[in-house]
Amino acid sequence: MTMNIDRAALERAAADLLRAVGADVDSEALEETPRRVAEAYAELLTPQPFRATTFPNDDGYDELIVARSIPFHSLCMHHLLPFHGVAHIGYLPGERIIGLSKLGRVVEYFSRDLQIQERLTTQIAAWLQRELEPKGVGVVLEAEHLCMSLRGVQKLGAKTVTSALRGLVRDDARTRQEFLALTTRTTHDQ
Ligand SMILES: [Zn+2]
Repeated sequence: MTMNIDRAALERAAADLLRAVGADVDSEALEETPRRVAEAYAELLTPQPFRATTFPNDDGYDELIVARSIPFHSLCMHHLLPFHGVAHIGYLPGERIIGLSKLGRVVEYFSRDLQIQERLTTQIAAWLQRELEPKGVGVVLEAEHLCMSLRGVQKLGAKTVTSALRGLVRDDARTRQEFLALTTRTTHDQ
């Protein structure tokens, strides 16, 4: 979704929220808070456009290309609290390849939204399929949801893992195993 952010309304809402929790919004300490809250949310919800530069796969590279542990943060649409962690992305190239730095931009682009982790995972996979038309794509996200860990629903630091596997990364047993071996071992590294 593309967010249409009304800064003035966001500031008023932040002031209302402060009043609702019993804070004295007229105190000097809180004077700038509604503006800062509006700024923070606007930033968290505004995706940065980027160019999806791809290159022809001239050498016919046909092994998995994997970028591991791309850091990201997003905003949970159920509680408006952050969830953050790392993304692992792999694809089996077809005619085109993409600069590795772009993979981070893709993750960031879809993260700046009111999200749920499953949807973020599938959006990244769908984007790569559309832009690259690879033979296969795999996306694994490991994230801590503050809405769960801060409230004690889950232990602090506990990770939720989601994945979206497409094409040969899903259907070819060897490729799938290779992708999962390359990506899921971070759980133990960190
Ligand atoms: Zn939540």
